[in-house]
Amino acid sequence: MVRALTDGAIRYEHPLKQYTSFKVGGCADVFAEPSGLFQLQEVLRYGNDSGLNISVLGKGCNILISDNGVRGLVVHLSGKFFNRIEQRNPEVIVGAGGASLPGLICQAARWGLEGLEPLVGVPGSLGGAVAMNAGGKYGTIGSCVTGVTTVGYDGELHHYKRDEINFGYRHSSLSDQIILEVELELKRGNGEAITKRMSDIFQEKSMTQPLNSKSAGCIFKNPEGYSAGALIDKLGLKCMSVGDAVVSGKHANFIINQGSATASQILELIYRIRDEVQKRLGLILDMEIKIW
Ligand SMILES: Cc1cc2nc3c(=O)[nH]c(=O)nc-3n(C[C@H](O)[C@H](O)[C@H](O)COP(=O)(O)OP(=O)(O)OC[C@H]3O[C@@H](n4cnc5c(N)ncnc54)[C@H](O)[C@@H]3O)c2cc1C
Repeated sequence: MVRALTDGAIRYEHPLKQYTSFKVGGCADVFAEPSGLFQLQEVLRYGNDSGLNISVLGKGCNILISDNGVRGLVVHLSGKFFNRIEQRNPEVIVGAGGASLPGLICQAARWGLEGLEPLVGVPGSLGGAVAMNAGGKYGTIGSCVTGVTTVGYDGELHHYKRDEINFGYRHSSLSDQIILEVELELKRGNGEAITKRMSDIFQEKSMTQPLNSKSAGCIFKNPEGYSAGALIDKLGLKCMSVGDAVVSGKHANFIINQGSATASQILELIYRIRDEVQKRLGLILDMEIKIW
């Protein structure tokens, strides 16, 4: 049997809610936290040999996990190897896929590098941010990415240069692989000015978004030419609830777990909102969050 099985990398029927920002969801049939690349490849081989469906979990800030859990193997990139951040040359940072995005943004500012300020207030991992092309009105992470190293679910390593990667609205062409390492090219800037911009953006976000509540950020993508939050607000759906799942009073595109919401309550609320918007405005809202 692969060595990974003998040194604690794999657990069975492992609860996942603690790994998500919604704090809901059931267990993974099989859960793996490999300590490095070799062990990750062993875990993937084990998953493939066992015929398991494989998923990669970052910091769970954009995922709704079913109360019935996730069938197959969930790989979680934690531990030192998957959290590294280094400055490769004066303007280039390299971060591992599991590294904290907020941590990386603060470290870039300390190194006097600008470009990541638009991502202030976005929780999660660097890999998750690149897979989702995270961002907002001031910019997305894709615009700073110059190279990405991935491992396919078959265990093969790949390297992509910027022009080989397709970044779209909350999507990248790398979302079907495991993002191991990301190279970001930033600009040298003035440390004080960078910190000021970060603080301005954070303040603006915290005025309009419930950043300290249990949520997964925006539930729906904005339909072309509209803001999903503004549409939901216009229909008077703020504060609508199913159990402890509530549409935020601060930002109508956020659903909050007020205490002991279940995934099925959150999902029911999502479907109710979507149905109302379709029935009354004739617009179809697509999901931004991933449902597992
Ligand atoms: C309060 C709050 C505010 C938010 N604000 C924003 C915002 O302003 N803009 C925005 O874009 N998002 C926002 N989000 C959503 C979320 O923070 C981002 O989508 C984030 O990039 C998700 O990263 P993660 O590590 O948590 O990914 P996860 O939620 O764990 O995963 C999301 C997707 O990425 C994939 N993935 C994760 N890691 C990897 C990897 N290493 N390789 C390949 N695929 C991977 C997963 O398989 C899944 O499909 C917000 C969320 C919260 C809770």
